[in-house]
Amino acid sequence: MPVERTLVLLKPDAVARGLVGEIIARFERVGLKIVAMKMVRATPGQMERFYPSSEEWFRSAGNKLLKAYQELGIDPKSRLGTDDPVEAGRRIKDNLIRYMTSGPIVVMVLKGNRAVEVVRKLVGPTAPHAAPPGTIRGDYSVDSPDLAAEEGRVVFNLVHASDSPAEAEREIKFWFSEEELVHY
Ligand code: ADP
Repeated sequence: MPVERTLVLLKPDAVARGLVGEIIARFERVGLKIVAMKMVRATPGQMERFYPSSEEWFRSAGNKLLKAYQELGIDPKSRLGTDDPVEAGRRIKDNLIRYMTSGPIVVMVLKGNRAVEVVRKLVGPTAPHAAPPGTIRGDYSVDSPDLAAEEGRVVFNLVHASDSPAEAEREIKFWFSEEELVHY
């Protein structure tokens, strides 16, 4: 069955900027159904467990950060104390935890045909400056990884969305019990 569930987090910048309603409206507009939703003040421990800690994730995120530093002419050793991609990836995760716990977030489960893929399409790519118009990240932000690197933070991109059906199921279970998911 192509009917899927996916997890969406409206990050602290979305809540602080008063964009919760507008972002949710975009998911409702395409016909996705909200089957669970709550506002949370996440703890660092929760975010540490929510985001991946695999070497593969650290390496991939770290390589992107090192590339941004290279483009800016920033020496990673003097800024980060390391030029190792895995170590740089760990710094990204630390900054991500700091961002995700800087204010309240909204956690929700959306259900519908190919929900995982459709929500990723509506959200757009990670870097808002490069996200196409019509996507949430492209329409509501101009942030970019190089600016974020310069300011020693992760890119503020408003929304998190599960990237595969298997990951969606793990993430849904992380935030909600089965009883909290409403059938209608
Ligand atoms: P996405 O949220 O698009 O699925 P990832 O799962 O790769 O992206 O990363 C999680 C979050 O960490 C991103 O949404 C972004 O806020 C931040 N992030 C990841 N990599 C970088 C990077 N190289 N520079 C700045 N921020 C990053």
